[in-house]
Amino acid sequence: MKINVTKSSMPSFEEYIYEIKELWDSHWLTNNGTKHLQFQNQLKRFLTTQNISLYTNGHLALEAAISMFDFPQGSEIITTPFTFVSTTNAIVRCGMIPRFCDINDKDFTIDVNKIESLINEKTVAILPVHVYGNICNVEEIEKIAKKHNLKVIYDAAHAFGVKYKGVGIANFGDVVMFSFHATKVFNTIEGGCICFKDPSFKQLVEDMKNFGIRDEEHCLYVGGNAKMNEFQASMGICNLRHIDECIENRRKAVIQYRKRLSNINGIYMIPDQPNVEHNYSYMPVVFDGYKFDRNKIKEMLAEHSIGARKYFYPLTSQFDCYKSFDKGDTPVAKRISEHILTLPLFSDITQEEVDKICDIILG
Ligand SMILES: *Cc1c(COP(=O)(O)O)cnc(C)c1O
Repeated sequence: MKINVTKSSMPSFEEYIYEIKELWDSHWLTNNGTKHLQFQNQLKRFLTTQNISLYTNGHLALEAAISMFDFPQGSEIITTPFTFVSTTNAIVRCGMIPRFCDINDKDFTIDVNKIESLINEKTVAILPVHVYGNICNVEEIEKIAKKHNLKVIYDAAHAFGVKYKGVGIANFGDVVMFSFHATKVFNTIEGGCICFKDPSFKQLVEDMKNFGIRDEEHCLYVGGNAKMNEFQASMGICNLRHIDECIENRRKAVIQYRKRLSNINGIYMIPDQPNVEHNYSYMPVVFDGYKFDRNKIKEMLAEHSIGARKYFYPLTSQFDCYKSFDKGDTPVAKRISEHILTLPLFSDITQEEVDKICDIILG
């Protein structure tokens, strides 16, 4: 019995086939088709956002989020290196310079006490990550951004469906990017979106993801192509029907993991945050001072055909292409990345599977 670290959520074959059937009538496969528009409306309601734009993947959505402000090239954006490399790539590919801020050692989001010392005259934005679906200190970040006149762009790739004080996480920050990649809590095979505060950006972002074209005879911007197609949107429509059940199943598995692995010397798991409705997107566990180290546990699980990931190791600041931006001031992120392991978690993981994984870890 093989257990992967994740397993994509899918509707039944029949449900998806039923959803895409009408595409054979319309022969309209992309460019704001009916599925795209229907899915966009459903997401707007689900995420409780006013302004939304759908993308072919989360990474291009994040590049769109950064480029919509037209920051001067070479501006600095404060971010964390404890993330998937896409976050840093998006910043650099948009011509910006990443300033790496450390994370806190409770929930591994950006350490808000270390942001201000990184701000200088070239700083234009803060781009924190709601890592593992745990939310950043959105209130403090907003205060800092207001004080220094910075934009706030959230990488919420992990945070689909998360709420803070009853409010959808899409409502915190100037722009919020969600990923619908196959491995995320909610998927459209590949896909993503941005939600943004200022409605005046809607036309710009729609044009930019379609080559910068406004109408048949006018191209206004140097745009790219990042549109979500009808098959992706159909997958989204189907998966959205089951999202509550999917998150509830994940929650049960996480509770089981916590029951088995808590109160053990050298094992740390991030607790639920106060006032947050979580999506239980990942099961990160820190093994620091435990009888087996992180690498050993990964090996022990692999021997039983169980996949676990060193998610996130190395830090993005340690990759060859980003070493020059690394000022060595993220010691907490470095320590966590050396000890963290993400255990299997997906909607239909069974209690027996979780128990088996925990038995191996407990030796
Ligand atoms: C998955 C992910 C992305 C990129 O999203 P894609 O949809 O895969 O392009 C960006 N940031 C983080 C933190 C991610 O986990």
